[in-house]
Amino acid sequence: PESLAELEGKHPGLRISFRSIHSAKGLEADHVVVMDLDAATGRLGFPASNPDEPILRLVQPEAEDFPFAEERRLFYVALTRAKQGVTLLADPDHPSAFVRELEADPACRELVSGEAADNLPPCVECGGAMVAKRRAGGIRFTCTHSPLCTNTSPSCPACGEGMPAHPAPDAISRRWTCSSCATAREGCPRCQAGWLVPRNSKHGEFVSCSRWIGPGKGCQYKRSVREA
Ligand SMILES: [Zn+2]
Ligand SMILES: [Zn+2]
Ligand SMILES: [Zn+2]
Repeated sequence: PESLAELEGKHPGLRISFRSIHSAKGLEADHVVVMDLDAATGRLGFPASNPDEPILRLVQPEAEDFPFAEERRLFYVALTRAKQGVTLLADPDHPSAFVRELEADPACRELVSGEAADNLPPCVECGGAMVAKRRAGGIRFTCTHSPLCTNTSPSCPACGEGMPAHPAPDAISRRWTCSSCATAREGCPRCQAGWLVPRNSKHGEFVSCSRWIGPGKGCQYKRSVREA
């Protein structure tokens, strides 16, 4: 809450306020950020750890169809305050049961989950925030405006953690720079919206655009790398 004034100072066009869900009832905002959606550790989680605690039993009506009905209603209130979008902040290793339910719900395909980081560059297509998704093959970055924006990016081949960022419009170098290890990559000369990923095939080494998605999908630029 103390840093909100500082944030507003950096973004003069934004009006930011911090509230409990209870005090937000009946209000609306363009975008809502719900914080601390972590699995229960003692009483601090949301929903709180033990629904069978006697004190909670007293305040909860007997015939509730869903677990954590009271907190579920609060969570619904929080989600429905937003006119345009909602950001849920949760511990990636111990998210709230509500977050896990949303992630598992096929009707909720607009939910983009992943790890956010302060230093991740914005989406090159729409300016939205990018989040990291960890999979068996490594990290891939996805735009949080999916499915409206389909932009994704592979992670940096050097460190596997960062995302190469588009050079600033006024930068002298046209090279992309990794958000974690600062390794520079050549930009794609065809689409200007991707960077060149080193790859290997039986025909030898080559580079291809980071916006390659599959045969005929995404940017198809590639060039073989000759050994000197
Ligand atoms: Zn985007
Ligand atoms: Zn890197
Ligand atoms: Zn390209």
